[in-house]
Amino acid sequence: MASFPSADRLALLTNFGHSIGSVAYVYRPTHAEQIAELYRSAAGTGFTVGMRGAGRSYGDASLNGGHVALDLQRMNRILDWNPGTGVIRVEPGVTIGQLWAYTLEDGWWPPVVPGTMFPTLGGCLAMNIHGKNNYVAGPIGEHVAQFTALLPTGEEVACSPTQNADLFHSLIGGLGVLGVFTSITLQLKHIYSGNLKGYAWASPNLRQMMDEMESLKADSDYLVGWVDGTWGGSGLGRGQVHRAHYFAPGEDPSPAQSLRVEAQVLPDTFFGLVPKSILWQFMRFFMNTPGAWLTNTAKYVHARTLDHRHHFLQSLVAFNFLLDYVPNWEKSYGRGGLIQYQSFIPRAAAAEAFADLLKLTQRRGLPTYLGVLKRHRPDKFLLSHAVDGFSLAMDFKVTGGNRPALQRLTDDMSRIVLDAGGRFYFAKDSTLTREVVAESLGPDTLARFCAMKARCDPQSLLQTELYRRVFGSI
Ligand SMILES: Cc1cc2nc3c(=O)[nH]c(=O)nc-3n(C[C@H](O)[C@H](O)[C@H](O)COP(=O)(O)OP(=O)(O)OC[C@H]3O[C@@H](n4cnc5c(N)ncnc54)[C@H](O)[C@@H]3O)c2cc1C
Repeated sequence: MASFPSADRLALLTNFGHSIGSVAYVYRPTHAEQIAELYRSAAGTGFTVGMRGAGRSYGDASLNGGHVALDLQRMNRILDWNPGTGVIRVEPGVTIGQLWAYTLEDGWWPPVVPGTMFPTLGGCLAMNIHGKNNYVAGPIGEHVAQFTALLPTGEEVACSPTQNADLFHSLIGGLGVLGVFTSITLQLKHIYSGNLKGYAWASPNLRQMMDEMESLKADSDYLVGWVDGTWGGSGLGRGQVHRAHYFAPGEDPSPAQSLRVEAQVLPDTFFGLVPKSILWQFMRFFMNTPGAWLTNTAKYVHARTLDHRHHFLQSLVAFNFLLDYVPNWEKSYGRGGLIQYQSFIPRAAAAEAFADLLKLTQRRGLPTYLGVLKRHRPDKFLLSHAVDGFSLAMDFKVTGGNRPALQRLTDDMSRIVLDAGGRFYFAKDSTLTREVVAESLGPDTLARFCAMKARCDPQSLLQTELYRRVFGSI
């Protein structure tokens, strides 16, 4: 390679919420050998290398300003597919959307998906993503049969729950700073319909919503709550619960129809009239505190008309990827973009701690415009974010003037979360400090992660802005 890194590779990269951006030397390899060559070129130059999938993390997880960013989206081949067993082997740049579209007609669906279908599998493994079924299905890492990864030392490792198990449980959820996934083998879930049986109803406050989700979780394949963060008093955290079940074998009268990709495609228009591609521009007028109050109230009033006893059919895509309904919705937050703050709190402390968080945001005049409640269970991965409890994800608008106030707010929220024994999720983070992360992980986990970093990447070649912010130069 002539000069490294080459100036003509410079490009501006941003986070999903367009609230953070930086210029990096962007390389887009198509094969693992090119990554090995990039490692060799970068070693000893002082430049670090950061991995990037589809750039759908809310914070700075896939940014590496002033250094090298490896955009892995061109490594997007399906390597092997067995429609008899539902085991698929893919390159890391394959997206969740590409995956389900490939396997659906054979009756298989990714067992864990995020709220959008655009992320890559490599990005999903590096964050160990969870879905609306985390309390029953665990994170995506629990469905990985094997992966291969290229370490900065040049070593290519194959890992499974039983082979190199320590690397397996560290690289999954390892923020992409221990090695790069080069192939991923997943066990998919057998499904008997392209539809889910959905239920939805209003919940008058957060505590009741949590009680309802708790009592229903043993009998639900998916559960998620939408939370109105703009309302206070006895209606604090009111919202709507969504619950869904898979179809049992033989229950769908025409599975060949519902399992067609065409039956899943989200419509291009709302009510057959308004093109969805322009909708985000109208949403901009409501992305302020009075507008958020109005839309949240309208949504809650509508939720109150729903009957929890009756189910409706919803395609797997419509249920799981609700946020993809409005293309580019994140742009409606305006030039400053948005950040998300998601915390995970053990069950016994969750209702009180989340109430405190919501009240604090309202007192500071920075209410969340979108809140989402999920139920979780613990897992065995080193940097696990899940607890036996709930998470509340809160979206905040960023403006030219409110960044310091947002930082103060999230700092104070983190104190509440830590005091409640809670955890954080790096895919959604852009404000945590080293001290907060060290306290939430605890000295033992931190030491094990540092030891793993030293073993996989002794020169600390793999870094991102997130890594430097929350771990410093370990
Ligand atoms: C609208 C929306 C909804 C979401 N909903 C959820 C949700 O419900 N649950 C959830 O868990 N998450 C959710 N997310 C977060 C998202 O799933 C994660 O941030 C995911 O990691 C994004 O994948 P990506 O391909 O865009 O990766 P990027 O954001 O580009 O990168 C994420 C991390 O992966 C690393 N990385 C990327 N590729 C590789 C590789 N091949 N090898 C090693 N490391 C790699 C990067 O260095 C970085 O640390 C949501 C995001 C959005 C935008």
